[in-house]
Amino acid sequence: MFLSLRSCKASACAVKESLLSFMATKSRFQAIRGTRDLLPPETALWNRVEETAREVFCTFGFGEIRPPIFEPTELFARAVGGDTDIVSKEMYTFEDRDESSTSLRPEATASVCRAYIEHGMQQLPLPVKLYYIGPMFRRERPQKGRYRQFYQIGAEVLGGSDAPAIDAEVIEMVMTFFDRLQLPGAQLEINSIGHNADNCRRGYVTQLKSALEKVKDKLGADSQRRIETNPLRVLDSKLEHEQPIIATLPKIADHLCDECKTHYAAVKHQLEMRGVLYRENWRLVRGLDYYMRTTFEITAAGLGSQNAVCGGGRYDGLVELLGGPPTKGIGFAIGEDRLILSLQEAGKVPTVAGRDVYIAWMGEHAHATAIRAAKTLRSAGISVELPPTEQKFGKALERASKLNSRYALILGDNEVAEGSWTLKTLADGTQQKVTEPELLEFLKRHRD
Ligand code: ATP
Ligand code: MG
Repeated sequence: MFLSLRSCKASACAVKESLLSFMATKSRFQAIRGTRDLLPPETALWNRVEETAREVFCTFGFGEIRPPIFEPTELFARAVGGDTDIVSKEMYTFEDRDESSTSLRPEATASVCRAYIEHGMQQLPLPVKLYYIGPMFRRERPQKGRYRQFYQIGAEVLGGSDAPAIDAEVIEMVMTFFDRLQLPGAQLEINSIGHNADNCRRGYVTQLKSALEKVKDKLGADSQRRIETNPLRVLDSKLEHEQPIIATLPKIADHLCDECKTHYAAVKHQLEMRGVLYRENWRLVRGLDYYMRTTFEITAAGLGSQNAVCGGGRYDGLVELLGGPPTKGIGFAIGEDRLILSLQEAGKVPTVAGRDVYIAWMGEHAHATAIRAAKTLRSAGISVELPPTEQKFGKALERASKLNSRYALILGDNEVAEGSWTLKTLADGTQQKVTEPELLEFLKRHRD
């Protein structure tokens, strides 16, 4: 990412200076704190997770959206909330060359809603169902399960109704996905936070605030501050000594208006109809006004304190807040890094991918034949390692085993002249003679 510095001259000098000091200390480049390289064989697991998401989401009628990874800062300030830690402290913000403030996305719901409005998607058959997969950026303190560049798999349903069946189906979809991956210990928690426009949430927040005022002295500094700025977030606190105090606070479930109560009961009923197990957690909240009614979170095993792998909820006011038409919305975001960590902890790790065939060739004619054979086999989906230079057969076989190859195809000029090739099975050392068409047939038959 090139940041625009006001003076190009100054920028060139700065780059030169840092390069010189870099060379003087002979330090090596390293990935920036909180970012990391995903490497094979782990990336095979990432691909499997993403393929599974695509397959499952597709069966629920979702299509993929790929929004840009940077947007106007103001979009996130409005959608995520200017007072939140994400916007006030954690965004990577830079001034672009036209001096407009731009930020790397800390989440993608804002972008999806922006795209919905920008492309007039309310004209499409509703609801519009979209999913995304990609990196997000937050300047948090890096630790296990928490990175500065992390990945989310998320989905949004926009422009439908607020039928409880939509909430339940979205949750069913995530749980189906987790089930397909055999995610260990996936636990769904749900709550309803009521409706902001009705009296239920406002009435509740007033009561919560006055209850909090009474115990203010016993709370930590963060919670004390939140009594004023965002009292619902106090319920979120993980501080040990605040837990018994929070347990005595008024609960939103006792304050829901009739409509919200009915909606919540129906969501639970719809989940039961779908065989989705849930636990109710009255402390599950979202801090922003446009979030309403259904909120949910899913935790998984093997993650320590960063054990939330998915957060979601209904946000009927967000599209309008961003300048679009009144639009119902519900969605979720899965933390892909944590999902992968949990799968790894459970031992669901792919083995190092080997090769099907290693071609050990010697001689000019054999090289030409080897190139042709590699092409034919690869187009049949067979993985082939073709060494770029001639190797002695002993050396070639050694390398074939190191690369975890199943077979070595031995091609010397004699084999090529006779049209009879040697195929060696590396596991047991047996050899057989095959013609070119027989080789393809054999490999196809013995594919696992
Ligand atoms: P957390 O409880 O970890 O702070 P959050 O409430 O900030 O999560 P959301 O903004 O709802 O999380 O994002 C949804 C999911 O994205 C989280 O449940 C988590 O799995 C993942 N996630 C959020 N921040 C990070 C991060 N810095 N590194 C890795 N994963 C993250
Ligand atoms: Mg967070």
